[in-house]
Amino acid sequence: MMSQRLFGTNGVRGVVNDFMDPQLALDVGRAIGTLMKGKVALATDCRTSADMIRSAVAAGLTSVGCDVLELGALPTPTLQYFVKISEISGGVMVTASHNPPEFNGIKAVDADGTEMHRSREEEIERIYFSRAFDHKDWRGVGTVMPTSGALDYYQKAVLSLVDLDAIRKANLRVVLDCANGAGSLCSPTLLQRLGASASTLNCNPEGTFPGHPSEPVEENLGDLISLVKGSGADLGIAQDGDADRVIFIDDKSHYVYGDRSLAVVAASMVAENDGGIVVTPVSTSQCVEDAVRAAGGEVMYTRVGAPIVARKMMEVGALFGGEENGGLIFPHHQYCRDAAMSMAKMLEILAVEGPLSSLLKKVPSYHLDKRKLHCPDERKEQVLREVCEAFSSNKIDTTDGAKVFFDGGWTLIRPSGTEPIFRVYSEGKDKATAKRIADRCERVVKEILEG
Ligand code: MG
Repeated sequence: MMSQRLFGTNGVRGVVNDFMDPQLALDVGRAIGTLMKGKVALATDCRTSADMIRSAVAAGLTSVGCDVLELGALPTPTLQYFVKISEISGGVMVTASHNPPEFNGIKAVDADGTEMHRSREEEIERIYFSRAFDHKDWRGVGTVMPTSGALDYYQKAVLSLVDLDAIRKANLRVVLDCANGAGSLCSPTLLQRLGASASTLNCNPEGTFPGHPSEPVEENLGDLISLVKGSGADLGIAQDGDADRVIFIDDKSHYVYGDRSLAVVAASMVAENDGGIVVTPVSTSQCVEDAVRAAGGEVMYTRVGAPIVARKMMEVGALFGGEENGGLIFPHHQYCRDAAMSMAKMLEILAVEGPLSSLLKKVPSYHLDKRKLHCPDERKEQVLREVCEAFSSNKIDTTDGAKVFFDGGWTLIRPSGTEPIFRVYSEGKDKATAKRIADRCERVVKEILEG
């Protein structure tokens, strides 16, 4: 019973009125409230089920005695910032990030505004599955207080952390695509306050995501790329559904992969600060370490997962960190992924250092080969161990799965937590090298499996 899981890598998620129904939301609210106690901030993204799930979570929280500060629809990092600056016990975000519109989810935020630590999620799971909810009589039930101001506190914080004069003088022209998500409620006005001239696309909140699916991958951003090209804009900006991640289109209308924009921002911040530590998961492209080293900084690697990156950043006093999917973390702002902060920082970098396409020329490029290899769950540990033995003369990093380094590249073999597969990422200077490395790794895994 105790080891049953409710939380995935990004909260509790599922299809609405299937797994994610009001009863689940109510009981998750009761479990979170039992753990957090006191005042809890609550916000949603813009999905059609936002009201239903939010009401159920609020009922659960108040039933166990919590007072709910209801912030309304907001980007996830806006809720996180509000929790960080308020004297409250934590926050709850109703969002399924970039998932299709039929999904929704519930994510818990600790009192410092960071995504909840796994050990505390386990505590919530224990309360949920054993139904050990706090019991209050009619006098102890909490209240729901509509609370305004979160968006303004957040925007002011972002504006205070960039060189506004430089951005305003640069007269940058941008195209913003919020995928009809929660970023629509913040980023258009923030761009105005930053003094950029912005055209908007899919910036009306709409829970069916009529513009395109809300994951900012290249195949979903055709309209944005065309608009950047047609208008000759300096930058295209694409956010995911809850506006914690951002992907850029450069001034030549090229889609910029998340690890390359991570490299540009990291190098700029390291240069500006005469050094510093940048934290990123082992799955990130070598291009980030190359760029950071060239700027005089150092990279530290973690297991995959934004909360893990954020906590490592706190531990080592990192200057900056992030993931290859466009999730950038600015510790002087807050220890979580933040699309609006990333967007403002990118504008500052362009204003001070020049066009994104020229900055990207300084970032070495690599090719990534992604594969899935079938492996029964019960054999994953043995296979990983034997992979390490097979490559014992190579440098190996076992931070997350096994990352084996070769001449001109590396391969990362990670067991999936949810499927009987290994995810295999292989990177090389070019396509042929990446493929050669991936083929070699695949052969070794298959030989081990065949015994
Ligand atoms: Mg997201």
